[in-house]
Amino acid sequence: MAGRITGGKRDALLVRDCFRAGGYVFAKKAGDLARENGISRIARLASNENPYPPSPDAIRQGCDALREANRYPDECMEQLLQCLRETYGSYHFVSGVGMDGVIETLIRILVNPGDGVAIATPTFSFYGLAARAQSAEIHPLQRDEDYSVDPGVFINAAADAKISFLCSPNNPTGTVTPPEIIEEILAGIEGILFLDNAYIEFCDTDYLPLMNRHDNLVIGRTMSKAYALAGARVGYAFVPAWIVPFYQRASTPFTLNSASAQAAIGALKDREFMNRYVTHVRTWRERVARECGFPVTPSGANFIMVDVAPWTGDTMVRELAMRGILVRSCASFPGLPDHYIRVSIGDEWENELFLKEIQAIREANSGLSQ
Ligand code: PMP
Repeated sequence: MAGRITGGKRDALLVRDCFRAGGYVFAKKAGDLARENGISRIARLASNENPYPPSPDAIRQGCDALREANRYPDECMEQLLQCLRETYGSYHFVSGVGMDGVIETLIRILVNPGDGVAIATPTFSFYGLAARAQSAEIHPLQRDEDYSVDPGVFINAAADAKISFLCSPNNPTGTVTPPEIIEEILAGIEGILFLDNAYIEFCDTDYLPLMNRHDNLVIGRTMSKAYALAGARVGYAFVPAWIVPFYQRASTPFTLNSASAQAAIGALKDREFMNRYVTHVRTWRERVARECGFPVTPSGANFIMVDVAPWTGDTMVRELAMRGILVRSCASFPGLPDHYIRVSIGDEWENELFLKEIQAIREANSGLSQ
């Protein structure tokens, strides 16, 4: 090929089609808008992060691990897995660079080009991005009007899928799917059900008893939300035992870096830190939903989805950004109308500011059609 590709055309010839469409949506542009308006203290409610720094134990253990960063970490992440067993019980676990890393590795283990991957929609975008990168055929299935999942519809879509994705509590709707529905789905499909529990700590539902009854269930978890370690990129999953050796072969060697793994151990052991934040989220989730003046979908997560009609999600994001508040428009989520925003529960001052400004926007425009 050398010498035959001229400048500017190399990407067209070399890059695979699946990477030509838009990728993951990051919450940066609205931040620029706020800064252009001279606002320096910005309420960051767009990415469902924990607004507080990690537990001091996580920070100390992560820093200590850096003292030995001249050495490769333990390739099995045995200390982290042991800590997960102590925390949750004697399940089989795998870890990855964020839950995103776990999802990508599982798809690489299971999916050949053209294989089916079912996704309950609207939902988190990375399942589709990772599956398309593996040349999978996506079978999206629409959630009901209240965003619940019909098990019959799910089973139909997942009939010949190697892996199917269901997020509970769901991003961006916050909807929690009852364990009985999950169990019905598990009994009706041959492939893996990946149950994404990124936000599980913020609701009362427990899916773990299902792990012992089904060997096609994977439950994905993250340290990015309740445990305040989004920047450390630590994800893990409860898996059936048969997957473990394949996962070890398919994942990049050492899966995690030693500082992140140790920070995760420190965070997992500090239950008090996590419980304090979860209580904060539950209290504010209820208040923000009640006082924002727009309809809100019931949420079991650290965010709420707000119906801002007659504004569109995009126009409301701009209005709020000009007032120093970053939220996420849901316009990029396939399967949702364009008049929703997703708002993370932040620190007290951020939640207060959001309530004050969204009420002001509504009052300033009452009677106007957007
Ligand atoms: N699943 C869901 C539903 C998410 O919202 C996110 C992150 N926003 C992830 C997975 C990825 O988590 P991580 O930071 O561990 O990659």
